[in-house]
Amino acid sequence: MLAETGVHPAMWVRLWFPNAGRPHQRAYTLVDPDPTTGTFGMEFALREGRASDWARSARPGDTVEATVQGAGFKGPEPAPTRLFAVADPASLPALNSLLDALDTTPATIWFEGDLEGLPLRRDPERHEVHAVPRRDAGRYLAEQVRAALPELLRDTPDPYLWIACDTATTRAPASMARKELGLPRPRVHALGYWRAT
Ligand SMILES: Cc1cc2nc3c(=O)[nH]c(=O)nc-3n(C[C@H](O)[C@H](O)[C@H](O)COP(=O)(O)OP(=O)(O)OC[C@H]3O[C@@H](n4cnc5c(N)ncnc54)[C@H](O)[C@@H]3O)c2cc1C
Repeated sequence: MLAETGVHPAMWVRLWFPNAGRPHQRAYTLVDPDPTTGTFGMEFALREGRASDWARSARPGDTVEATVQGAGFKGPEPAPTRLFAVADPASLPALNSLLDALDTTPATIWFEGDLEGLPLRRDPERHEVHAVPRRDAGRYLAEQVRAALPELLRDTPDPYLWIACDTATTRAPASMARKELGLPRPRVHALGYWRAT
């Protein structure tokens, strides 16, 4: 599959989980996809949910159906002088792949949740990480980003802003960056990774 599709940062597939006869599909990111060996990993942020249940009980040899999504990731051009990323445990695998791809780019990262024990691929020399607790359904995170971003952007000639949290929380910083701070669309990537209910 990987030899056919090629690989790119934040590449994901739609997984189809058995769910009492009704389809239950959820997106998951490929971790270190390798077209030569045809292998990749996956990392599940475990919650209450069908996908999480499947992951908890998965055993060697189990299979799951997947649909490959076509949307390739186009790296920002010109290359960013600094990456600004807003992420959480669900988007951590995608964030890691982005940090790997931009492997000389400094980054400011706001991470919603506790990073303790999570495999953030952090380079202390280049990455400034702010772990932000989830409060007020994500509004606290959005406020932290809103307070810091304008000044940070002033000092950055070619920024790239990447936001992937719950759908509602993702919207506010993306909209501020585009509408209030005038970041051109190609310099902002925002995708809701899960829906809070
Ligand atoms: C492009 C893309 C790539 C993704 N890659 C990954 C990945 O690599 N690893 C990963 O763990 N997730 C990833 N996600 C997020 C994952 O698809 C969702 O978290 C999904 O909703 C989990 O499905 P579920 O069946 O376990 O729970 P659901 O049935 O969807 O939800 C059950 C309950 O859990 C809540 N919930 C769901 N997800 C979360 C969460 N992340 N945090 C807190 N509460 C939650 C819901 O609000 C609901 O109340 C990705 C999403 C997208 C869009």
